[in-house]
Amino acid sequence: MTGINIGVLAVQGDVAENISAIRMAMDDLGMEGVVSQVKTPEQISDLDGLVIPGGESTVIGTLSLINGSMKKIKEKIASGMPVLGTCAGMILLSKKAKDRVVGEMEQPLLDYLDIKIERNAFGRQKDSFEAEISLEKIGIPKFRGVFIRAPSVVDAGKTVEVLSKVDEKIVAVKQGNIIGTSFHPELTEDLAIHKYFVNLVQKKN
Ligand code: GLN
Repeated sequence: MTGINIGVLAVQGDVAENISAIRMAMDDLGMEGVVSQVKTPEQISDLDGLVIPGGESTVIGTLSLINGSMKKIKEKIASGMPVLGTCAGMILLSKKAKDRVVGEMEQPLLDYLDIKIERNAFGRQKDSFEAEISLEKIGIPKFRGVFIRAPSVVDAGKTVEVLSKVDEKIVAVKQGNIIGTSFHPELTEDLAIHKYFVNLVQKKN
């Protein structure tokens, strides 16, 4: 195979939107490679980069734990594979997550990003909103963030770069090759974040 191999974890959530955003980002950059849905540890082991989409982190985490994907993703992260986690995806990448209303609960996490998450930090589905944000540190001065039952980062360790905030709440982070966003870049036409990510995958390759 020529080019990079990017997978979108396809357990639950907005998989199709991320596949098309990655495809368009690669095409716009004239990059060779494939992007496909991945579910099994075998499919994950072949990847150069992974997107964990938004959805319901408890569902994605529990099902991925059962079929062995969580373990495989952890191994790949340890070997340096870039991952983009949007919304539920960022929750899954974190070391600690609690819900704004329900509080602490058992849920499988990948235990990588040194952050504490507050799930549903901005309220329920009806409190979804869009906001103009900025991710200057990765060269994206303006971006339209779509927030749907979005988490926020309430605490970030020293190795974590804070990329963006909304109302004093941290909504995007980077640690090594791992990026997490509270919002859904795949639901806007702006491909800047997906392009940044595919470039990261290309560089690592
Ligand atoms: N609130 C969801 C969770 O905690 C995430 C929402 C989303 O991904 N849009 O898993």
